[in-house]
Amino acid sequence: MSNSNEVQSSLFPTYARYPISLVKGQGSWLWDDQGNKYLDFMSGLAVTNLGHAPEKVKEKLKLQLDELWHVSNLFQIPNQEKAAALLTANSCADAVFFCNSGAEANEAAIKLSRRYHQKVKGSDRYEVITFEQSFHGRTLATLTATGQAKVKEGFLPLPAGFITVPLHDLEALKAAISDHTAAIMIEMVLAEGGVHPVQPEFIKAVAALCKEQGILLIVDEVQTGMGRTGKWFAHEHYGIEPDIFTVAKGIASGFPAGAMLGKEYLREAFTPGSHATTFGGTPIATAAIIATIETMLEDRLPERAATISQYLMSQLNEKLAGIPFVNEIRGLGLIVGIECQEPVNEIVLEGQKRGLLFVTAGPNVIRLLPNLYVTEEEIDQALEILVGLIHDHTAVKKA
Ligand code: PLP
Repeated sequence: MSNSNEVQSSLFPTYARYPISLVKGQGSWLWDDQGNKYLDFMSGLAVTNLGHAPEKVKEKLKLQLDELWHVSNLFQIPNQEKAAALLTANSCADAVFFCNSGAEANEAAIKLSRRYHQKVKGSDRYEVITFEQSFHGRTLATLTATGQAKVKEGFLPLPAGFITVPLHDLEALKAAISDHTAAIMIEMVLAEGGVHPVQPEFIKAVAALCKEQGILLIVDEVQTGMGRTGKWFAHEHYGIEPDIFTVAKGIASGFPAGAMLGKEYLREAFTPGSHATTFGGTPIATAAIIATIETMLEDRLPERAATISQYLMSQLNEKLAGIPFVNEIRGLGLIVGIECQEPVNEIVLEGQKRGLLFVTAGPNVIRLLPNLYVTEEEIDQALEILVGLIHDHTAVKKA
């Protein structure tokens, strides 16, 4: 019990929450409990890729709600088979493990890489190499894999078996590789780390190195996957095929779900009983995944994201040209970072007051994550607010 007269939240204060309660969403738009309307350019952090309350997903979920919500993975789950078949048909992967979040998908990937080497290959490889500024989740293993000190504070001791090297430094990577290396884990766009797309030559060299040395390549597609970058999965832009990749966020239009996908030769490493999770791939979660993927196929959403992102980028480049406050505009498809000279948190807060929701990616980077159906008109509306925000912010700074 608190002594304060203020009403005390019963939640752990793990989030610095904005003073807005969103109560309704439709397409690119959100409404708060005061009736204010917002244009959503963050999509729940790359989750609501189909916009809010997408009709086909809603319909499928309603039907599934009447049928069956949950059964144990001790039984056959036809929806799970179908969702997995859809994912493998639209990617380079051959097998899927369903779970509930990005961190859990990455845990599964780390575990699979160790188990493959130790049980199938009979080696004692266990180490996973990751990159500075990466983000892979908040479980103990995935925060250890994450290349950012702030997520590790106060959580010592961290699990053994992780090494972090600078991104785009092939020599440092080579020096970190040893007989113990099980996997290299990388994002195609360092999203939380500031929206930095990985350099094509670098990722190609990493993929070649992995093949040459029998190291598994894990690509974390938790933020970049499910069409957001203009391909189903961002690694397709680089012409590489990871051994394992992970998805979550956009996979089920906001229903909590994640998946780890891998190549055929990894299947035998996960024998019955070796890995599990109660809620992974339930009938209701996989109904949301199936409906999301079928909608993406019907509406050719990855292609749509690629096309509309060109409009977004060209408008950003045109409208922000010559503003000294803006250092760089970068991204891949509909994950866009605008790097500024100074912290942008005040701009985010002022944006909310003007009806536009977006987030940061590190202190100085404005991150835009619109849904994949975003229209040119909505982009125009968002940019009118955003450009005004940047102009006003720099004018205040000068005054
Ligand atoms: N990996 C990446 C690249 C992410 O962006 C995130 C979340 O932001 C995660 C992993 C963790 O996902 P989750 O929060 O669903 O555990």
